[in-house]
Amino acid sequence: MIVPVRPEESLFAERALLPDGWARNVLIRYHRTDGRILEVARDSAPGGDNFAGIAVPGMPNLHSHAFQRAMAGRAERAGGMDDNFWTWRQAMYALVARLDPDQIEAIAAQLYTELLCEGYTSVAEFHYLHNRPDGGRYDNPAETALRVARAAQKAGIGMTLLPALYARGGFSGEPLGPEQQRFRGDPAFLSAVADAVISAGSDAGGLQVGLAIHSLRAAAAPDIRDATQALVSRDPGAPIHIHVAEQVREVSECFASSGATPVEWLLDNAPVGETWCLVHATNITEAEVAGMASRDAVVGLCPSTEGNLGDGLFPLRPYLDRGGRFGIGSDSHVSVSPAEELRWLEYGQRLVARKRIVAAGDDSPSVGGTLWRAALAGGAQALGQPVGAIGEHHRADILVLDHEHPRLEGRQDDDVLDALVFAGNGGLIRRVLAGGRWVVEDGRHIRAEAIAGAYRRVVRQLY
Ligand SMILES: [Zn+2]
Repeated sequence: MIVPVRPEESLFAERALLPDGWARNVLIRYHRTDGRILEVARDSAPGGDNFAGIAVPGMPNLHSHAFQRAMAGRAERAGGMDDNFWTWRQAMYALVARLDPDQIEAIAAQLYTELLCEGYTSVAEFHYLHNRPDGGRYDNPAETALRVARAAQKAGIGMTLLPALYARGGFSGEPLGPEQQRFRGDPAFLSAVADAVISAGSDAGGLQVGLAIHSLRAAAAPDIRDATQALVSRDPGAPIHIHVAEQVREVSECFASSGATPVEWLLDNAPVGETWCLVHATNITEAEVAGMASRDAVVGLCPSTEGNLGDGLFPLRPYLDRGGRFGIGSDSHVSVSPAEELRWLEYGQRLVARKRIVAAGDDSPSVGGTLWRAALAGGAQALGQPVGAIGEHHRADILVLDHEHPRLEGRQDDDVLDALVFAGNGGLIRRVLAGGRWVVEDGRHIRAEAIAGAYRRVVRQLY
């Protein structure tokens, strides 16, 4: 017997976080095939295909290097020297040297299932692992990019794919080192990758292609200009992401070679605006805070990775005071939880300021609510996709919370988000709808077994 698949389904939520606040008895109709929300109706009678006590928008993850998931928790041994970002980078290069496309795909698929279980429903993949281990090109220039896109499809997570410009070894134009040859990507190569991904992915909803500039140390001004112009002529609204001011050494080398810090240089020399995402910005001045906020760009904050690598701390309060926009990313994936990312974003500020309640203010007193909402909006802007909101035409990315969980007893409205962010880890997300498909049931990804099996094989090969 053939069971007909109805393209339209619905979700009834007793309480739902909508773009203008919490609403009661919300009926959400969505399309299974294109994965978009068709209609959101308040004060509806219970009914439809699915019931939720509490529904909140899934979180966009604006910064990921999927392959690095395989080394999470494996770089925590003293190295007999001054361990820092640069020694960690050597460990990362050692992993990169061994990965083949099958392994890249298996690691990414495992990561994406874990992100979904924790509440991320879309991800911006900052993709710089372009070439063969010996630095030569694959027959298909988009080989590895297509693998991470396929991993996203397998897991059911929405993706913005950002092939990265990576063309030099340092600010003085040093050539790439042997261990960096896998990353080599100039503007012409990136256009070829984008074309291949777009033509291969035309049947896959929820895939947006943009551009990453690895960093100012890895790309010179003419290449940045050519790559951004090529992208804008193809898709004017496509996102552009760059690592910036993550490390003190990077800032001082940039200043020595150009007379400007990385953020100053970008604001003066690149068309930084709403389509841009400046990732980290952990070592910046007050003037740079003001400059970034005034351009309406998004700052991509990754507190768990920035803490793990000893990067520094982004000045959140002054930035928010100037109306600055931010989103969160799991970057190296030492954490796969948006709640943990937001918690550490707030805790880092408290530790430095020696006070409580930094991100919230009079107009939005809940810290969890303020952070979750801001990261939804900033993440959606950075991904260049209609995500991060339960609203018509948006991607149907919804977290169904376990309203019977003891941690949520008696919690109303933003109290729920305070509990989600500040009352512990895991257990609150019962089901996840991503792109109109239920991909997490009872806290478990529907393809967990097969995807984890492939990942385990890769780990045994690598370690
Ligand atoms: Zn990064």
